[in-house]
Amino acid sequence: MADIGALPLTLLSEQFAKLPGIGMKSAQRLAYHVMEMSDSEARALAQAILDAKKKVHTCAICCNFTENERCRFCSDPRRDQGTVCVVEAPRDIAAFERTKEYKGVYHVLHGLISPIDGIGPDKLRIKELLSRVNSGTVNEVIMATNPTVEGEATAMYICKLLKPFGVKVTRLAFGLPIGGMLEYADEITLYKALQNRSEI
Ligand SMILES: [Zn+2]
Repeated sequence: MADIGALPLTLLSEQFAKLPGIGMKSAQRLAYHVMEMSDSEARALAQAILDAKKKVHTCAICCNFTENERCRFCSDPRRDQGTVCVVEAPRDIAAFERTKEYKGVYHVLHGLISPIDGIGPDKLRIKELLSRVNSGTVNEVIMATNPTVEGEATAMYICKLLKPFGVKVTRLAFGLPIGGMLEYADEITLYKALQNRSEI
């Protein structure tokens, strides 16, 4: 990275540039911004990073991030503990929670199978899901990975592993976005919408 005046600043922007979605220019902008901060603000930022790394770990049941042994969903008796929605990442949970309709619990894979990126099934939290189903407390597993090549492949792979347990496995229906136009829909979306059509 280009020298931006002082070595520590260059090193700091190099650290920011490692973050997802941060290009070199943004990284430099952030580094300069840190210089505008008061000492206590800078310390609070550094401490927040260290605290998050130290105090947050994965839930013993669903692998979601939590400060406790069990996350707030797994420890909530009002949630249906027998319905498990399998997602790629913790951020997907927030999306389901926004619907305010889902009352089940989750299982976070922390990735998707992607041979090109060298990510095999063993890198994901699949074992944890299998032992959860094996314990007999799960009635339905909803495969809610994204409708991408990796998302579909991961859903299919897990579905096959779950078959011997005799648990109900469902996949999210994918279709046309609300407010979308048929002529602009790509063929996979349109095909999925046709496949998942429902009686009105
Ligand atoms: Zn949990």
